[in-house]
Amino acid sequence: MVRAEQVCKRFGQNEVLTGIDLEVGRGEVAVLLGPSGSGKSTFLRCINHLEKIDSGRLTVDGDPVGYVERGGRLHELREKEVAARRTEIGMVFQRFNLFPHMTALENIVEAPTQVRRESRRDAEEHARALLERVGLADKAKAYPSALSGGQQQRVAIARALAMRPKLMLFDEPTSALDPELVGDVLDAMRDLAADGMTMVVVTHEIGFAREVADLVAFMDGGVIVESGAPDQVLVDPRHERTRAFLSKVL
Ligand code: ATP
Ligand code: MG
Repeated sequence: MVRAEQVCKRFGQNEVLTGIDLEVGRGEVAVLLGPSGSGKSTFLRCINHLEKIDSGRLTVDGDPVGYVERGGRLHELREKEVAARRTEIGMVFQRFNLFPHMTALENIVEAPTQVRRESRRDAEEHARALLERVGLADKAKAYPSALSGGQQQRVAIARALAMRPKLMLFDEPTSALDPELVGDVLDAMRDLAADGMTMVVVTHEIGFAREVADLVAFMDGGVIVESGAPDQVLVDPRHERTRAFLSKVL
């Protein structure tokens, strides 16, 4: 579903990604971890068309990100086409950016009705099912300010799912939450994984990674230093840098 080959990205002189190789199969969950500034968010943003890569190859579901392949040649997508591709990828950030003036339900039906042109009725029915799925069936009418951080984050997950994405990206979805609220958000993500969603998750929740991930990748200095099965990378890492990092977060 996601394939990165030697993906490079720099900001001015700052080479942030210096050759990322990663493959995430359909239905798989990949957890990315690594120190601050190692390029984790930048890589997610590249997958989601929010940053353009400088070199290498990056595909989502076989499509090169930002381009369409025709007759063996790559043609750059227009802005509208990029936007359409982006709707197929759900993203959840560290800070829940719900619309504050809308209820939980309105937050969820907004994009499907405005962007996908779903009928209000279908979108609402789907939204209620999604709220139920993240354990918030009773919060449809609540405004974000009346919800805990963990509840807001679960609404954000439901909102992303409302677009029926084929891939979900999570950028430290629990790191801004009080510890007692983390579990419910991770549970919602665990359910989603069990349901077969393809997910790339930046998180330092090692327990979640061990239990849910098919693949754990440790990033440092713009490359993936090592990747593999959770028990291999998290319990018996090959590289000293991975070991040093894990000893700090565990
Ligand atoms: P953290 O764990 O702190 O979230 P990260 O691994 O997600 O870190 P990134 O946010 O991807 O790291 O940042 C990697 C590097 O890229 C940093 O040096 C950052 O300053 C730089 N960077 C990120 N976005 C931009 C931007 N839009 N313009 C310029 N530099 C940027
Ligand atoms: Mg980040």
